[in-house]
Amino acid sequence: MNKTALITGISGQDGAYLAQFLLQKGYKVVGVVRNTSSSLNHLKYLAIDGEVQIMECDLRDIVGIINIITVIKPTEIYNLAAQSSVSLSFQQPISTFEFNTLSVLNLLEAIRITSLPIRYYHASSSEMFGKVTNLPIHETTPMHPLSPYAISKAAAHWLTVNYRESYGLFSCCGILFNHESYLRNTNFFVKKVIQQALEIKNGKRELLEVGNIEIARDFGYAPEYIKAMWLMLQQDTPTDYLICSGQSVKLRTVVEYVFKVLDIATDKIVVRQDLLRPTEIEDIVGSNQKAKKELKWTYDMTFFQVLELLIAEEIKNLP
Ligand code: NAP
Repeated sequence: MNKTALITGISGQDGAYLAQFLLQKGYKVVGVVRNTSSSLNHLKYLAIDGEVQIMECDLRDIVGIINIITVIKPTEIYNLAAQSSVSLSFQQPISTFEFNTLSVLNLLEAIRITSLPIRYYHASSSEMFGKVTNLPIHETTPMHPLSPYAISKAAAHWLTVNYRESYGLFSCCGILFNHESYLRNTNFFVKKVIQQALEIKNGKRELLEVGNIEIARDFGYAPEYIKAMWLMLQQDTPTDYLICSGQSVKLRTVVEYVFKVLDIATDKIVVRQDLLRPTEIEDIVGSNQKAKKELKWTYDMTFFQVLELLIAEEIKNLP
């Protein structure tokens, strides 16, 4: 096999696991970082930092992208770079929207202009659906995004669809629901709950302060979800897929399960009104039937199994 994958967002959770997976498949992997000070700790954690070629590029600059793809000639591009936090997007709506859309448009334009035979994967998000009335969500469910992040992802999603329909690009959107791992950024809910619960357990913290934990989410395990990204680019025809577990769980249940596993009293959980978001999706659960049928993607973990893995890995890596 002579395949080269270019991964943007290589320093993030999904970038690292995808790089590991593609290296195991025999790919040459090139990772794009915004600057050389981007942390490669995730690649180091997976012991693959020496196997990935790193290139620097500002994805807002199409000239830089064209230079990279004409030199590297990737057969596949996985575009994972994004300002990925919903909370931060309320604080930084303009930079979130600018980067999350312009970077995607530049990549698509670069592929179109160079006419290289590149298969393109775009990281869409379940957040795009937002205010849904009918559950479970399907690929055809109308979108009503509820945050600057979700709106930027919806715009990028439709750009990717449009380049497929208008120019015949092999471009796919993986619409992923929340997926977690040890490498998840510490400002995300599940990682934060596990880390802070361990601090309480070890006498380093008094309380776990949370926002609205009465909402429910469809959570999964990142190392399994990234396999679906690769499967999408191996099909004969490009299209879009929901990647999710098919089950939602309340955030309160997640917190209480972590506390139960670690044997911590639930009176240490404090709900803070100032942590509530301006708009919030109540419940979100997707159907993974299309991915399972067409991609032959398999996923059968419950989120409690995922939580147990995450807690064990967190404990193993305690300083
Ligand atoms: P992540 O851990 O937050 O990683 C994001 C990556 O994007 C990092 O490599 C980061 O680089 C890069 N990035 C962020 N802002 C940037 C900017 N302004 N310029 C250049 N690079 C920038 O995210 P993830 O969990 O791996 O998610 C990967 C993709 O899937 C993202 O597009 C995310 O929106 C999407 N997604 C994730 C989930 C999920 O549950 N994880 C669900 C649906 C969709 P630095 O290290 O330099 O900051």
